[in-house]
Amino acid sequence: MKHEALRREIVAACINMNARGINQGTSGNISARVPGGFLITPSGMTYEETKPADIVMMRLDGSHEGKRKPSSEWRFHRDLMATRPEVGAVVHTHSMFATTLSCLHLDIPAVHYMIAAAGTSKILCAPYATYGTQETADNAVKALKGRNACLLANHGMIVLGPNLKKAMWLAVEVETLAAQYWRALQVGKPKILPDAEIQRVIEKFRGYGQVKEEKAGSPCC
Ligand code: 13P
Ligand code: ZN
Repeated sequence: MKHEALRREIVAACINMNARGINQGTSGNISARVPGGFLITPSGMTYEETKPADIVMMRLDGSHEGKRKPSSEWRFHRDLMATRPEVGAVVHTHSMFATTLSCLHLDIPAVHYMIAAAGTSKILCAPYATYGTQETADNAVKALKGRNACLLANHGMIVLGPNLKKAMWLAVEVETLAAQYWRALQVGKPKILPDAEIQRVIEKFRGYGQVKEEKAGSPCC
């Protein structure tokens, strides 16, 4: 089987996102780039029953190989892979706090400096459209322009990463930010950090942790 290791990594990431409480049931979907297209989770299969062979190979023209139907959200995965060459993986989840904010059509402002991990000082909430439609894909691509995370109104979140490990890490960070913002809103009016400060943090992250200064890093890996 082609790309067996990556197929296994996708299945493990799916199980992991449910186990970590950032998704539930057959909601959510994951894709990872390979030469000639991308691998994507099959539609509506529980992650426990999903085997590496069930992961679907898709090309950027929307055609696919194999016996399984690709995720109903293949359009936004395809459009993001096609328009964002730096992206190696796309993760979509229905996590509790990000989805709660998306039900209120709220963007996430810079309530914590870790928003810089999403490459922005504001995570936008894309307008609502029916799941699986081209409208959802168009709205997502727009909200993600120049950013690595967005909310989907009344639906969930999408994060992007250079690889699956970093995209999964960012999904947890965005959910954490959403939870912090939601909690802060219960008590009062959160104080928002200025854009210039978030730009400073984005720059500072390049040298964060054990990476060499010249190598672009992040608080992840
Ligand atoms: P799929 O099972 O088709 O990937 O759909 C889940 C989902 O989250 C739709 O938005
Ligand atoms: Zn969804």
